[in-house]
Amino acid sequence: RNYKSQTECRGDINRLSAPFLAIYESLIPSEEEKEKQKQLMALLNKHVTREWPGARLFLYGSCANSFGFRKSDIDVCLALGDADIDKSEILLKLADILKSDNLENVQALIRARVPIVKLMDPVTGISCDICVNNLLAVINTKLLRDYSKIDVRLRQLAFIIKHWAKSRGVNETYQGTLSSYAYVLMCIHFLQQCNPPILPCLQGMARTYTVNVDNVECSYFDQVEKLQGFGSQNGESIARLVWGFFNYWAHCHDYANDVISIRAGRLVSKQAKDWTRRIGNDRHLICIEDPFEVTHDLGRVVDKRSIRVLREEFERAAEIMQYDPNPCVKLFEPY
Ligand code: ATP
Ligand code: MG
Repeated sequence: RNYKSQTECRGDINRLSAPFLAIYESLIPSEEEKEKQKQLMALLNKHVTREWPGARLFLYGSCANSFGFRKSDIDVCLALGDADIDKSEILLKLADILKSDNLENVQALIRARVPIVKLMDPVTGISCDICVNNLLAVINTKLLRDYSKIDVRLRQLAFIIKHWAKSRGVNETYQGTLSSYAYVLMCIHFLQQCNPPILPCLQGMARTYTVNVDNVECSYFDQVEKLQGFGSQNGESIARLVWGFFNYWAHCHDYANDVISIRAGRLVSKQAKDWTRRIGNDRHLICIEDPFEVTHDLGRVVDKRSIRVLREEFERAAEIMQYDPNPCVKLFEPY
């Protein structure tokens, strides 16, 4: 079957919302789990501030951006005021300190792309990665969390898309598919461009929050409680949005010319960003602009083989959403 962007959505789409919402509910972390995360953070904080009195610990990534599933690991950033520190030295020292407490599997991975200390806390059962001075990740975590407070459909959609990507094996950056972070940006973009929009463009509004990190100015409107009801002009159901998301990436997006940008709140051209050709390992076959590091394409991990895999998966999902009587089974079938 060959249907294009003008495809009419199936008539019975809204009856599919209940099973999607049930999946979403089943993936949300419990309050108990959040408590355990806090408990582990308090323990880590105690050790860190004893050694480095001015240091601070931040949660980032899915455990803090509101898009985390239950039973996931936590990502922690150790922020030391001094920019000129030797990260390896700090991480080795941190590993030594934490080993002396009863934490398990403490390892310093100092040669990784993002060097970290890994550990497991036997009391809470939580595993954790700690990096040093990765503050942009802390800020983009806040941006994502702020977006999720505006309209609950973002969190619902992103959970379903992440669950789909994990089930179908297309959430593996080392195999050339996309990170969870990239999928959440794709969901935000989708909800910004629908008509009427379900999400605003926070970086296009009066700034109420500004920080400078690694020479990048990060600023946006963060008083999101004032934006409650922003998307209420658009009454689309979650099932209809899932359908729309896959239809967008299967049949509407112009991969050859367009970059999605939640910073701009619309598409921008590859031409304007000079992302039209391969430079080094960056092929720009699907372009997702980082909201703060604007020279950074989250799609850069995607290569000639994996772009085919991704697009075939989007097409498969769009087809299931359009024709399958019970899409929730097929959509999440293990690959
Ligand atoms: P999961 O539930 O799959 O663990 P996650 O949100 O922790 O999801 P990751 O993609 O591992 O997903 O990213 C963790 C955090 O690291 C993100 O929230 C983001 O702050 C940051 N991050 C990840 N990849 C990038 C990137 N390429 N550029 C900038 N920041 C990134
Ligand atoms: Mg993570």
